[in-house]
Amino acid sequence: MSKRTQIFIYSKHDENSLQKKSVLSEMISNYGFTAVDDAKNANIIVSLGGDGAFLQAVRKTGFRQDCLYAGISTTGTLSMYCDFHFHEMETMIHAVQQSEIEVRRYPILQVIVDDNPPFYCLNEFSIRSNIIKTFVLDVIIDGLPFETFRGDGMIIATPTGSTAYNKSVNGAVVDPLLPCFQVSELASVNSNKYRTLGSSFILSNQRQLTLRLQDGNDFPTMGMDNESLSIHHVDSVNIELSDRVVKTVKLKNNSFWEKVKRTYL
Ligand code: NAP
Repeated sequence: MSKRTQIFIYSKHDENSLQKKSVLSEMISNYGFTAVDDAKNANIIVSLGGDGAFLQAVRKTGFRQDCLYAGISTTGTLSMYCDFHFHEMETMIHAVQQSEIEVRRYPILQVIVDDNPPFYCLNEFSIRSNIIKTFVLDVIIDGLPFETFRGDGMIIATPTGSTAYNKSVNGAVVDPLLPCFQVSELASVNSNKYRTLGSSFILSNQRQLTLRLQDGNDFPTMGMDNESLSIHHVDSVNIELSDRVVKTVKLKNNSFWEKVKRTYL
């Protein structure tokens, strides 16, 4: 941990965020760290903002495997990815220096749309119709045709993403120590004519999920965390848990379930 001294700070570009970035750069330099302008030269990547900023920091820096990520909250409350308050930055710096932190490894999704290069999601991949008609998807697990979904769309969430969009549609909150991903429906039609499982289900890291789009729905709106992906004429999407992880720093006694409690209870 002591060899990690190059820090890239990701923030929005508004005046307030840039001012906080500059305060933080100065503070870390007083403790022997260097703030670098290019994320490629960093071995610690820090986001300033909330969970949304953390998701962006990870995406914009390419889901780096050789870096530690840390979320610093400037919103006044801690959140799922932000363990440190901006006004308590010294706590984090002391903790890093005295090795009081642990490294957490968050599973991420690998998503491949047709023959396109893979992309990654830390929270979730979502897919929905962009026309005012039901969206029809064949859901295939390891080559087994499982169900035909008809409704608004589906959310495929990681364990850490299970507390986000997935939770709003009554998906389960999943411990990130479990290498798995969860499939949740958005407003499925269930009748004597159409039938889906109707509940969320969780797949292990050994499984591959394929979503095959039916005719007339081949220009869906797809979301990778907080960014949208626009591809015309989509035939199928393959989703599995990636071998990659996002490594984050955490203070001792600040587990995932403590975060769930402080955020929701
Ligand atoms: P946003 O729409 O501005 O805010 C979404 C809210 O979700 C924010 O309060 C954000 O926290 C929070 N959040 C993000 N990741 C979370 C997580 N893993 N666990 C618990 N809360 C989380 O968008 P954003 O801030 O860029 O976040 C993008 C995420 O919003 C997407 O990945 C998706 O999960 C979620 N989303 C939810 C719904 C819904 O619940 N109906 C719909 C669309 C998207 P901060 O305020 O700390 O940023």
